[in-house]
Amino acid sequence: MKRSLPELSIIVPVYNEAAHIARSLQVIAGTAAAITPSFELIVVDDGSRDQTWEQLEKLAGELPQLSAIRLSRNFGKELALCAGMEQAAGAAVIVMDGDLQHPPALIPQMVHLWREEGYEVIEAVKENRGEEPAGKKIGAAVFYGMLNHLSGYRLQGASDFKLMDAKVVDAWRKMPERVTFFRGMTAWLGYKRKTLSFTVPVREEGVSRWNLLTLIKLAVQAIVSFSTIPLRLVSLVGILFLIGSIVLGINTLVQKLQGTAVTGFTTVILLLLLIGSFLMISLGIIGEYIAAIYHEVKGRPRYLIAEKRSGAEAHIRSET
Ligand code: UDP
Ligand code: MG
Repeated sequence: MKRSLPELSIIVPVYNEAAHIARSLQVIAGTAAAITPSFELIVVDDGSRDQTWEQLEKLAGELPQLSAIRLSRNFGKELALCAGMEQAAGAAVIVMDGDLQHPPALIPQMVHLWREEGYEVIEAVKENRGEEPAGKKIGAAVFYGMLNHLSGYRLQGASDFKLMDAKVVDAWRKMPERVTFFRGMTAWLGYKRKTLSFTVPVREEGVSRWNLLTLIKLAVQAIVSFSTIPLRLVSLVGILFLIGSIVLGINTLVQKLQGTAVTGFTTVILLLLLIGSFLMISLGIIGEYIAAIYHEVKGRPRYLIAEKRSGAEAHIRSET
C-alpha cells in the first residue's frame, strides 16, 4: 500500500538523551499535531550508549508518527542530521535538537511563514546564547567572525533549528560532500529566506554533548569546507617574507662589503624561529585541506543505519 506523503517532517538527532527524550518528543509531537494531522517525526539515534534506543522503541508504540533510526555508532550530530534529511518525505522539513533547547513553540510560526507567505527556508537565529559558559560565547564569536570574513556567509547566531521546503531539501541532497556543515550548506543554497530570533532556554536535563575539542574540530571543518582563503594567506605571508628577505639581504650584503657586518647571533636565531613557525603553520593549513580532500575521495558512506523502528502511521516502515 502506498502511503500518502506527510505535510511536515520533523528531524531530531539525539545522542544519550534517554533521561528526557520521551518528554521532548511528546511536546514536539503535540505541537506538530496541533498544526497538521499529517506529520512524521524522524528521530535519529546517533549511536547512544544509554537507554535512548530502548526509549525510542517503546515510544514507537505510543507515537504512531514516529520513525526511529539507529545509526551503527556515534557519527556526530552533523551526520545524524544527514541521515534524517535523507529519510524525510514531508512537503516541509523541520530540523531541531532533542533537548527542547530549540523551542517547539516556534514551530507554528515557522509553518505559517512557509504555508501563507511562501518562504522556503525559515531559520531560527539565537538572539542570545542562553546560559552558555563565557568561554563558549567568546569562542563562538571568534569562530563566526572568522567564518564570516573567510566565506562571506553571515552565520552569526545561526542554529540548526530550521524549516525547509521540500525543494530546498532536494537541493540539499544534491550536495555530495562527506564532511558536512549543515548551517553553512543551507546558507549556500539560497532560496527565499526568513529568520526568526529566539532565546536559547537552559538545558533541563543532561549536559551539552560538545566539548572544546569537538567544537574546534567543527570550526576547522567549517572553515576548510567553506573557504580557501587560508591557503591564499599562506602565499601572501610568503610574499611578505620574500620582500623582507630582499631588503634584509641587500642590507646585510652592503654591510659586509663596507666591512661593518655585525655578528648577529640573536637576529639569526629569531629569524630561524619565525620562519620555522610560519612554515609549520603553512604546512598545517595545507594539511587540513589535503585531509579534507582525502576524506572526500575515499567516498565512504557518510553514516550507517543499524536499524529502524516505526510507529503505526509512520511514513518510513521498519521493513524498508
Ligand atoms: N547530538 C547528536 N550527536 C552527537 C552530539 C549531539 O545527535 O554526537 C544531538 C543531541 O542529542 C541534541 C543535539 O544534537 O539533540 C544538540 O546537542 P547539544 O544539546 O549537546 O548541543 P548544544 O545545545 O550544547 O549546542
Ligand atoms: Mg542543547
